[in-house]
Amino acid sequence: MKNIEEFLEVFDIPEEEALAALIGSFGPPQASGIRGYWRKHSHYGNDAPSTEIIKGIYSSNDYRCHICGSQKRLSIDHNDGNANNHAVENLKLLCFSCNRGKSSKPTQDKSHKLKIYRATMELYSELGQFPTQKQIRQRAGVSQIGGATYFLDYMKARLEKNT
Ligand SMILES: [Zn+2]
Repeated sequence: MKNIEEFLEVFDIPEEEALAALIGSFGPPQASGIRGYWRKHSHYGNDAPSTEIIKGIYSSNDYRCHICGSQKRLSIDHNDGNANNHAVENLKLLCFSCNRGKSSKPTQDKSHKLKIYRATMELYSELGQFPTQKQIRQRAGVSQIGGATYFLDYMKARLEKNT
């Protein structure tokens, strides 16, 4: 939790707001939210199941992953890999780790920023000043700052303000 506390301090985020964001990110979504998401994204086709069916998939499976039985971070998976096939028998609950094992989609954007954040905080505490982009890239093991440039500028402003 030390890293999380440090992050909240650097970014000046009240605990209440951080908790609300975590609940939003990790709490199970409402059935209407899942249905809305499927309807909005065309590769899920036009016949998203009703909220009653979606709720039923959670409750009839006792909120458990159909592979390992875990109740942690569940989502609904199209078992045959066809996002259009909303037949009830094709919709299975998967926990985060079984889902990740099944999918090859990387969560690259988030882990890229995380690497840069970690490297920057380490270097900042070692050097006593904000590191250069080159130092950050080397420590983070990334070839470019890329989409984290604005994030990095903001960290610099926050850290230098706090000293
Ligand atoms: Zn599982």
